[in-house]
This record gives sequence, structure tokens and C-alpha cells, in this order.
Amino acid sequence: MQVQETEEVACPKCGETSTVPIPDADVELKISPYVAAFGDHTKVDCSDGHTFWVYYC
Ligand SMILES: [Zn+2]
Repeated sequence: MQVQETEEVACPKCGETSTVPIPDADVELKISPYVAAFGDHTKVDCSDGHTFWVYYC
């Protein structure tokens, strides 16, 4: 079974950090406040209820 890597990202609205799974330890994360229709990404809900998206570059 593959070990899931995770990384902490800060919410763009309140700065609260959330932990997101990443596909590769070398991947670069790009945080976006809106969803785009391309690339690998994950949706994050911060503890304050904000939603943002993290893209893997
Ligand atoms: Zn937030």
C-alpha cells in the first residue's frame, strides 16, 4: 500500500492551515480561491468554512 503524502496549506481567506493529500512529495502546490477546469487538484474546506482549491504543478 502506498504511503499518502500530505502537506499543510494556508487558507487564502483566513490563513488557517489545513492538511491536504499530495500525490508526490516533490509536487508544487498552487492555491486558488476558485475552481479551474484543468490539472490535478483537490478541494479544501478550512475550519472556518471557506472553500478553496489546491492545484498540483
Ligand atoms: Zn478560511
